[in-house]
Amino acid sequence: MAPPFEIRSSPFQGLGVFATERIAAGVRLIEYAGERLTPAEADERYPDVAGERHHTFLFAIDDDIVIDAAVGGNDARLINHSCDPNCDAVIDDGRIWIETIRVVESGVELTYDYAYVLDERHSPAAKRRFPCHCGATTCRGTILAKKR
Ligand SMILES: [Zn+2]
Repeated sequence: MAPPFEIRSSPFQGLGVFATERIAAGVRLIEYAGERLTPAEADERYPDVAGERHHTFLFAIDDDIVIDAAVGGNDARLINHSCDPNCDAVIDDGRIWIETIRVVESGVELTYDYAYVLDERHSPAAKRRFPCHCGATTCRGTILAKKR
């Protein structure tokens, strides 16, 4: 069965993933696939360069495993961030799945909240390095998570 989504250019940035039919809430759409790295291996592969944009293909499952979707990844890596998303990234038994959290109409872009967490404080400067332009009325202006 063909997946209920396709890749198209996105008004957010670059490419995006769009529903090609109405999708119910709570549907597991795709695994966030990629090479499994330790945080140290990920740091070595992508050294942090001050002022440079974060590598958005990295997804930390927990303190021990980071998924690098730039290597062996699939369409899930093209799903854009939104502060008012229609999907969520669900960690289940050491794997990441993108699932709908509400009904998505055909033609609507699939999004989830990246909610990045940095080691450093989420200062205004840090937020500016990770800006969000999702256009949601609730947009917090950054793809960083609200710090707990
Ligand atoms: Zn936003």
